[in-house]
Amino acid sequence: MTAAMDIKIIRAASSKFAGMDLKGIAFGKYFSDHMLEADYIDGQWQSAVIRPYQPLSLSPSVAALHYGQAIFEGIKAYKDPKGNPSIFRPHDNFIRFNISAERMQMPAVPEELFMQGMFQLVRLDQQWIPPYTDHSLYIRPFMFSSDELIGVRPSDNYKFLIILSPTGPYYAAPMKIWVEEKYVRAVSGGVGFAKSAGNYGGAMYATAQARKRGYDQVLWTDPVEHRYVQECGTMNVFFIIDNKAITPDLSEGTILAGVTRNSVMTLLQERGFQIEERPIDMGEVMAAYKSGSLKEVFGTGTAATISLIKELCYKETVMQFDVDSWTTAPAIKKQLTDIREGRIDDTHGWMQPV
Ligand SMILES: *Cc1c(COP(=O)(O)O)cnc(C)c1O
Repeated sequence: MTAAMDIKIIRAASSKFAGMDLKGIAFGKYFSDHMLEADYIDGQWQSAVIRPYQPLSLSPSVAALHYGQAIFEGIKAYKDPKGNPSIFRPHDNFIRFNISAERMQMPAVPEELFMQGMFQLVRLDQQWIPPYTDHSLYIRPFMFSSDELIGVRPSDNYKFLIILSPTGPYYAAPMKIWVEEKYVRAVSGGVGFAKSAGNYGGAMYATAQARKRGYDQVLWTDPVEHRYVQECGTMNVFFIIDNKAITPDLSEGTILAGVTRNSVMTLLQERGFQIEERPIDMGEVMAAYKSGSLKEVFGTGTAATISLIKELCYKETVMQFDVDSWTTAPAIKKQLTDIREGRIDDTHGWMQPV
């Protein structure tokens, strides 16, 4: 980490925490006592402030609301059995945040602002990390353009914030997935690799259509032939075929380079799987299903860690899986949770003490 930063802290007069039981708390609905805020004005990041969590006052003309220069990240902090807090691979999210920023013509956030800001905030609000298994404190850094001007051009001013939300077990029931053949999430040359707000708004219509048909989520495919797999909702996707673990490669720039994806690839490799990052044709998936060599299909992401996929529907073909008989994805999920919650050794240096 680079030079120490002066971050002003204005403490909340009282904590909302008193007497609150965080056990089983729903994701994304409750926020900790403090937030971090920093403004970018006239080409300069101004000093950051940690202040009580509170509404922002914004002009109706603020640029992000009109033209969508807005990006975010999702990271989690955990407590080990002794109650010591740590954060899972935060530096990877920092790097990805600035990749998103560049694609959206937004200023890079300095490493010390992002990292020290996050650590100071989490340290201050560490009582909000639920001390239970499968619980965590979700960290949401985000940035948006804040020019008060309706004009289509990159803003001169931006706001960077970090907010914290305690979260209980994300009950990830095995999912039924609709392999999308009509709508598109991302194209080569587009913004699919950026965690930019508009990607999520743009995905909601197709997801709603899939829900009407009884499916939980959409598996996006390439925009030309609707044959090559991209990713699934807000998760990367893996197929276990024989002793190979196959996941779409990042070269088209159409999918998010997930930190969970990267971690799961490492753990699969350590278990003896051969990892292949390459284009995946749905024809190959269907053939592997028919021959019995398709063993497991699952999604990976910070929210649910690993979500098993119990059904895939592509064109007229429905592929169903007996997820209760699977061994790999459930074992990796447990291993990753045990590393994060400090029950087994973190041999990869993924956990950063707060
Ligand atoms: C955040 C996200 C992921 C998962 O990334 P992680 O770093 O593993 O949380 C995958 N796909 C999309 C579209 C995402 O927004």
